Amino acid sequence: MAGLYPQDLIDRVREAADIVDVISSYIPLKKSGANFTARCPFHTEKSPSFNVNPARQIWHCFGCGEGGNVITFVMKHEKMSFPDALALLATRAGIPLPRDKEGEDNSYIYNINKEAADFYQRQLKTAPSFVGEYIKKRALTPETVEKFRIGYAPDAWDALYRHLVERKITPKEIDKAGLTKLSSAGNPIDRFRNRLIFPIVDEHNRVIAFGGRALADDEKGPKYLNSPETPVYNKSRVLYALNFAAAKARAANRIMIVEGYMDAIALHQSGFENVVASSGTAFTAQQCRALKRYTQNLVMIFDGDEAGRRAAARATEVAAELDIRPSVAMLPAGVDPDDLIKQGGAAAFEEIVKNARPYMTYLIEQACRKFDITTPEGKADAVRSLLPELSTIAGPIERASYVELLAERTGIPATAIGGQIRSTTPRHAAAPLGQPIPRTAVPPTPPPRRVRPASPMEKWIIQIVLDSPQTLDGPLASLKNEDLETPEYRRMLEHFRLELEKNRGATAGELIESCPDAGLKGNMRALIIETRDNDNERNGIIINDFLARRDSGRIRKENIADKKQRAISNLERKE
Ligand SMILES: [Zn+2]
Repeated sequence: MAGLYPQDLIDRVREAADIVDVISSYIPLKKSGANFTARCPFHTEKSPSFNVNPARQIWHCFGCGEGGNVITFVMKHEKMSFPDALALLATRAGIPLPRDKEGEDNSYIYNINKEAADFYQRQLKTAPSFVGEYIKKRALTPETVEKFRIGYAPDAWDALYRHLVERKITPKEIDKAGLTKLSSAGNPIDRFRNRLIFPIVDEHNRVIAFGGRALADDEKGPKYLNSPETPVYNKSRVLYALNFAAAKARAANRIMIVEGYMDAIALHQSGFENVVASSGTAFTAQQCRALKRYTQNLVMIFDGDEAGRRAAARATEVAAELDIRPSVAMLPAGVDPDDLIKQGGAAAFEEIVKNARPYMTYLIEQACRKFDITTPEGKADAVRSLLPELSTIAGPIERASYVELLAERTGIPATAIGGQIRSTTPRHAAAPLGQPIPRTAVPPTPPPRRVRPASPMEKWIIQIVLDSPQTLDGPLASLKNEDLETPEYRRMLEHFRLELEKNRGATAGELIESCPDAGLKGNMRALIIETRDNDNERNGIIINDFLARRDSGRIRKENIADKKQRAISNLERKE
């Protein structure tokens, strides 16, 4: 199937679709050393053994052995064919696919969506009374309902579908817009039924997707249901209400980010118009990039509960990678902005935003409040509770300023805190707060398929070659298959040599992908995922040491052979 598309197009899509961006739009990834980790979406597990390596653009699960590149991930996760996965990634990246005729012009989807939004809006006017009651309960004014084009999807199997077909829209086009799905009998049925509908509108005021909130208490589906990804809708890039908030954010030089549609709507209604919702996904780098165009000042509003804190920590990390330092405002646990506004009005929300600060500052203040820092024990506890977070701050200057702040608040000298940080392993990003911290980010390699224990040296050598294949032409030019004792590493080396002969500039990814043996391929991926950051000095030492041992081994063998030879000669002489 890959033959449908030219290789350079496949390469371009792969280059444009960052593996971390793509995978994190499906599952939450946590930074862990050079990799990102998660609980594997392809097998059930408690601790994360799913690894993504951004430098190599590959992923690998140490638990089930699955792995590959960004396209294979999408194929597996979406249960798609290669061309479909490629098309999805190309669409995300804005790369036109020559063979996908529809892909060249998706404007018809906007038209269908607009038609659907109008339909839902009309349905709201004649909706059953419980719909109106719900809107009243959420205190939405008629102006707000109109502004956000809130609608109602009737409790019928195919009301929208029939309406669109009457408008001469083909079933295939309706499906492409994500508005229908197939019934168990194989007929198209409306995706949204008996739900309050929130059209998702892009910055150019085009309807790109829909969110539907369940109204019935006994609703079997999720509380919120979103459109699937379509050629015009990319979940991880979209921010709800950005069409209204963009201009305001630029003018105010500040944008606030909340989690749900209803929160954004309630805040807009109360006069906070520079508010967007990340709705449906954890805050992503793509969303951050989109906001960066309007202002660098991000204020993120989170629920003060455990999940909210984790989301805040994660969002701070995502933003930091794009050089953005968001302020974080934590609401009282279990209270969302919508509740807050209803109970305390705009002033209550204003107060929360006023107290927004960088997440680390917030944590320091929390700790100083939680522990009694007038006592030596309390001071020590406060500092100790913050060590894991402090040790994850990558920038030395930033870390020093937080240490300074903590020193100031507790009276413990900054040098003492700094010393403690150096002896602290960073909290494993995936460990929920207050739970034991896994000791290593990368789980050990699966039991190798060989009897003889391999020397770690051989493994390091293979890792170095994978990391920079061209060492086989340089310092490792003299490396021969028989220098390796582990049969599996010999086979890998053999494959590398063959591949490099065909393609001198081959990358690690190409060396792995071109391997015809699936088992070997998986083990190569595991080795490269495990590889630490390229450290030339360390690699040089390992190579020299390995070659020296090999050569001295040879000398020893030669010596033994010599002795034997001499003994034989002596015997011969005696005869
Ligand atoms: Zn797995």
